[in-house]
Amino acid sequence: MISSKQITFDQQHIWHPYSSMINPPPTYPVESASGVKITLSDGRELIDGMASWWSAIHGYGHPELNQAAHEQIDKMSHVMFGGLTHEPAIELCKKLVAMTPANLDKVFLADSGSVAVEVAIKMAIQYFHAQDLSEKNKLITIKNGYHGDTFGAMSVCDPVTGMHEIFTGLLPQHFFAPAPQTRFDEPWDSDDIAPLKALFDEHHHNIAALILEPIVQGAGGMRFYSPHYLKEARKLCDVYNVLLIADEIATGFGRSGRLFACEHADIQPDILCVGKALTGGYMTLAATLTTTHIGETISAGGAGCFMHGPTFMGNPLACAVANTSLALLQRNDWESDVNRIERLLKQGLAEAQTLEGVTDVRCLGAIGVIEMKEAVNTAKIQKLFIERGLWIRPFGKLVYVMPPYIMQDEDLNQLTTGMVDAVAHYTR
Ligand SMILES: *Cc1c(COP(=O)(O)O)cnc(C)c1O
Repeated sequence: MISSKQITFDQQHIWHPYSSMINPPPTYPVESASGVKITLSDGRELIDGMASWWSAIHGYGHPELNQAAHEQIDKMSHVMFGGLTHEPAIELCKKLVAMTPANLDKVFLADSGSVAVEVAIKMAIQYFHAQDLSEKNKLITIKNGYHGDTFGAMSVCDPVTGMHEIFTGLLPQHFFAPAPQTRFDEPWDSDDIAPLKALFDEHHHNIAALILEPIVQGAGGMRFYSPHYLKEARKLCDVYNVLLIADEIATGFGRSGRLFACEHADIQPDILCVGKALTGGYMTLAATLTTTHIGETISAGGAGCFMHGPTFMGNPLACAVANTSLALLQRNDWESDVNRIERLLKQGLAEAQTLEGVTDVRCLGAIGVIEMKEAVNTAKIQKLFIERGLWIRPFGKLVYVMPPYIMQDEDLNQLTTGMVDAVAHYTR
């Protein structure tokens, strides 16, 4: 069991995501995690509503994932990928090529989501550079996006929530269209695409790629927008010779109700980023996929290669677990699980709509969101969740869950009931 001295050390010396060193947020010590439950070191068990940020889709401590990790670590945990290759990477890339949109068949294994986005951006820039179109070196994106925390990724995050003003001068300047306004299930309003079209019209000579999160904008606002918007965006990219980068790091592998969110609009991106759920939440691994045409064009350019290659590229341990995670996904009928979770989230959260302080309740796939009128005090509301046996971590105005796909109805009911009850108490 963790000691109070260790907790004090944590508070005094360790950065947590987006944390302060003057006013450290409370951090709850975890002893272990199994299935859909996280056990704190004082013995309390919490139902996990977050799947460790979209990733633990099969729950924690899955026997087959554990076995895959054990078997691989006994063979080799890691070898460099420069000049060497191995079965875990080959088998994983085979699966990724088979399950992602049909045009995508060249895979770059990256070590985190942010790196996968950096790689996607570099691919787009190198693609045009190789064709003597180096003036096409800007990106275009939509507001309320989130693509990661490294510089390239940050430069296409929402300028306000991404705090671009801190890094002004250092961050590359890109083009931002307003976020789509037509919600996922609303009738399409064709005016919605006009601002994006206007930017394409004026600046396409300088634009390499449109990057966006298809259908679900995650950490930038948990917004679900119309598949028609995505269809129109794909058309604009074709007309103006701009690549489409789909960042499916959060939505990939079934979360939105389709294996990939692009499928809601029946479109194929030119470059696709996946991450988060790729290893079932076991370790960090991501991938960037592209087409034969883009892969070959880049390789025929002046550099003669794609200019990226991290130390831990293709980590065999992560690949072996990812292989097993994708096999489990297919075997477990994720689709009926995600549909079941969507139904229960819709039923269970509907009541929150009537609460003081709530402006909107929305669900899509295995994602449920309660949007508050004002930003919540995370520490205060988290305490209410923990008293109800739940692990939910809100940010800003958003109280949201994206549970592991294996969560059974009883736990889901406890999750939604407790979530609504905690929000009611918080606003009272
Ligand atoms: C989480 C996330 C990222 C960044 O991934 P990391 O693994 O945290 O670097 C990028 N894009 C989207 C859509 C994400 O949700």
